[in-house]
Amino acid sequence: MCIFCEIASGNISCYKVYEDDYTIAFLDLSQATPGHTLVIPKKHFDNILEVDEESLNHVMATVKLISNKLIEKLGAKGVNILNNCGEIAGQSVMHFHVHVIPRYENDKFAIATPINNTSENEFNNLLQKLK
Ligand code: 5GP
Ligand code: ZN
Repeated sequence: MCIFCEIASGNISCYKVYEDDYTIAFLDLSQATPGHTLVIPKKHFDNILEVDEESLNHVMATVKLISNKLIEKLGAKGVNILNNCGEIAGQSVMHFHVHVIPRYENDKFAIATPINNTSENEFNNLLQKLK
């Protein structure tokens, strides 16, 4: 059983913020900012590529609920909602999860900002492949 399955089944303890039939939300042990919460489906899926629609919908509903809670109860001014998919993207626990990271004035959390200039040709090439 993976570590988040262990948490979902109650075998490993966590700082549980919210639970319903399909999802559980708990504080990330490494707090990017105070209140940083992980939302997971109770059912195991490796990542967002694998998760079924029903679980995904429930996870996103919980993400919204947690976002409101962080703003209302902790005084966050906004949230970043983040999913790492695959090792190259920084995924370290292979059980689908969404990070909800509350943002405060002058917090130290930073997301890298892409600064490359993409040509019209490159945009069109991308579009041809993706559409
Ligand atoms: P990832 O890097 O896969 O997107 O995020 C995994 C997150 O899970 C990390 O931020 C890490 O701190 C957190 N984490 C790993 N193991 C545990 C655990 O046992 N309990 C809790 N609450 N968080 C964990
Ligand atoms: Zn799992």
